[in-house]
Amino acid sequence: MQHDAVQRGAVQRDSLLVINAGSSSIKFYLYDIGPGDELTPRLGGQVEGIGTSHPRLRARDAEGKIMVERGIAPSHAADVPNAQEVVGMWLSGHLTGVPIAVGHRVVHGGPELSAPVLIDDDVLARLESFTSLAPLHQPNNLAPIKVIRERRPGIAQVACFDTAFHRSHDALADHYALPERFYEEGVRRYGFHGLSYEYLVQRLGQTLPEVLPGKIVAAHLGNGVSACAIHNGRSVDSTMGFTALEGLPMGTRPGRLDPGIVLWMMEQGMSHDEIEHLLYHDCGLKGLSGMGNDVRELLESDSPRARLALDYFAWRVAEGIAGLGCAMNGIDTLVFTAGIGENAAPIRAAICERLGWLGIAIDAERNAHHGPRISTGDSRVGVYVVRTNEELVIAQHTLALVRGR
Ligand code: ADP
Repeated sequence: MQHDAVQRGAVQRDSLLVINAGSSSIKFYLYDIGPGDELTPRLGGQVEGIGTSHPRLRARDAEGKIMVERGIAPSHAADVPNAQEVVGMWLSGHLTGVPIAVGHRVVHGGPELSAPVLIDDDVLARLESFTSLAPLHQPNNLAPIKVIRERRPGIAQVACFDTAFHRSHDALADHYALPERFYEEGVRRYGFHGLSYEYLVQRLGQTLPEVLPGKIVAAHLGNGVSACAIHNGRSVDSTMGFTALEGLPMGTRPGRLDPGIVLWMMEQGMSHDEIEHLLYHDCGLKGLSGMGNDVRELLESDSPRARLALDYFAWRVAEGIAGLGCAMNGIDTLVFTAGIGENAAPIRAAICERLGWLGIAIDAERNAHHGPRISTGDSRVGVYVVRTNEELVIAQHTLALVRGR
């Protein structure tokens, strides 16, 4: 960001920035803050292909009109801090004022942090200490925070955690069957996608308040995949645990796996880094299909391996959803969200078919139209499709913290 924009924006406090930084992309969203603190999206975009030979910058305004779409010199997006500079430069050319605050998606808040926090030196050091819990994600999440602190020390920054919503789990749900010292050292079932689940709870409270006190399973089916048991609006269990590898099959991660397989891989001479790369990037739908992880392509393909990948996905997701019923002694409502959950009607149908024994029945036409309610009138469980909006939750928390609420 340019220094002159700091000067220009010193008195014009009317927008808020949200950053979601991963290893290969930085997504950014700008919100206008209304007189009653209402948040209205102004633009959203991303730098993608960080660290590749073809990084790109794209952004659209609130109406979906393209504001920028162009390649970036690889040396300007060689890593996340570099790419954050590109975001800052582009934004400063499009803003008349400086955002009053920046909210960040941070994957790990450790065992204690159950709410978003304003970032200062102590908090940043604490968040860095959680890097060993999420070595592939935490450093990328923290990199833009450091760049902005350096460039714009006056801007308030807030960290919002994917783990925070799950800190309402009781100790039983947080445990693995390991000797207790591992739990004490932090080997716990943290759970992720919490910002998405938090948004769903908020949205259900607005649109279907009668279901909120009940037993809800929310299935976040995107590139990362998890499901969460939500009772009385609070997370009581999640299919994801210590890392974002556990649980349901994903785009490129296997989900449930016999740990003996990892031991076997080690015995075959695979290194830690090779196994890590395999588990995060080459498994799941991509590994099973041998094609890729885009569900649209797999659905269109007539390859038997694509079929196998989708059948496996539907079975194990259904199994995970059913298992979460044990955390609440039942399921009243099932909610699908994220890229696959919101858009892939055949996948929702296949999952629900495997849950027929629970009294789940969906209406083919409602499902084809993506709901919002896709269950039949006599289904024992109400089944819904709800579009998630993690960045709005981050924006809300960030504004609340800077306003001292
Ligand atoms: P992320 O976890 O990266 O935010 P998304 O929530 O965007 O991921 O979900 C990405 C997944 O959604 C991909 O597997 C993609 O194939 C799938 N997806 C997106 N749109 C559709 C669609 N129209 N039909 C089927 N699958 C879709």
